[in-house]
Amino acid sequence: MISVDAALQKLFSLVTVLPSESVPLAQAAGRVLASDQTAKRNQPPFAASAMDGYAVQSRDARAGATLQVIGESAAGRRFDGTLASGQAVRIFTGAPVPDGADHVVIQEDVTRDDNMITFRQEVGLSTNIRPAGIDFTIGQRASAPRLLRPADIALLAAMNIPSVPVVRRPDIALISTGDELVMPGQNPGPDQIIASNTFGLKALLESHGASVRILPIARDNEASLKTVFDLASSADVIVTIGGASVGDHDLVGKVAQDIGMQREFYKVAMRPGKPLMAGKLGHQAMIGLPGNPVSAMVCGHVFLLPVIRAMLGLGQCPAPRLRARLAADLPANGPREHYMRAHINDQQLQVFDDQDSSLLSVLAQANALLVCPPDQPALPAGTIVDYLAI
Ligand code: AMP
Ligand code: MG
Repeated sequence: MISVDAALQKLFSLVTVLPSESVPLAQAAGRVLASDQTAKRNQPPFAASAMDGYAVQSRDARAGATLQVIGESAAGRRFDGTLASGQAVRIFTGAPVPDGADHVVIQEDVTRDDNMITFRQEVGLSTNIRPAGIDFTIGQRASAPRLLRPADIALLAAMNIPSVPVVRRPDIALISTGDELVMPGQNPGPDQIIASNTFGLKALLESHGASVRILPIARDNEASLKTVFDLASSADVIVTIGGASVGDHDLVGKVAQDIGMQREFYKVAMRPGKPLMAGKLGHQAMIGLPGNPVSAMVCGHVFLLPVIRAMLGLGQCPAPRLRARLAADLPANGPREHYMRAHINDQQLQVFDDQDSSLLSVLAQANALLVCPPDQPALPAGTIVDYLAI
């Protein structure tokens, strides 16, 4: 049995950063930028007005002074002439400031009479002008690797970059195993249950940038397992669920090794999730998760998401941990790292009473996994502890 940390390091050794592909900017949100991009232009490309008002010379801007309005500068349509002392140009937000002007007085600060304006009061210190290039200048970098958020997409668009290279999504094949399983929507027999893990994991992994296929359920016999493994031969990562313990019907490890999987490890010192296995199958990584629904999802958070981030070029890091206070006393932990289902509210972690690894209803109420290191002594309420946000 190896530690969670050691297992994660071994999983990282099974995968590499994937190659990149070009996508239109409109489809790039949530993808990982694969190489640095540079601005193709200055923004704004000209000194621009930040307000609706009048472009003037600041030395003319005195309370009571009167100026003649000689034209208009609108967004997309500049005033072509040069402004002299004693003159003003009507101007709107985003419009180029005319040559000769160094100040925009806001329209509320003047009164207009025909083509004359009079200052009601002294103007403020702000020029209300956005200098050319104040946002970014030609050559400014958007650095890779970077998970592209909506603001990044807007910035790249403003830089006039219509498509971007992004890291290919990891292709992950999910295989449920078990004679007792049927797909949602089917009619289960009296001894059957619905395969839920593949659906939960697909949702989890896709929300973190993977492309996930749910393969047909493999039955608890070698032929069926081999057939489904064959269907997964083009995936980057094969994830099996269930059949990884030591029961008579737990055949995943044996079949995977029969078809060439070189095992890196089997069994991790964690709760839930002990019977985890992983290895290399040709060019593919194979990860065998335990079947209990909560175990499979916890392993998804603790192992699969970091593996996906590593394949996307975001570095080899464990699941990010946050800190909060225990709402109640916590009993001592045993020798395995325990990921306890909990609910965080107002920085207080409330641990659920029933931690059985089959209880999806509890997991669905949880928004945190309290991390209890191996052999942690009992802790009083109020102690600050680590947790994963889920
Ligand atoms: P196993 O690891 O195959 O012994 O499975 C452990 C428990 O998880 C058993 O109660 C299985 O019925 C259940 N189980 C296995 N795979 C799934 C799945 N894909 N969805 C829901 N439950 C599962
Ligand atoms: Mg099974």
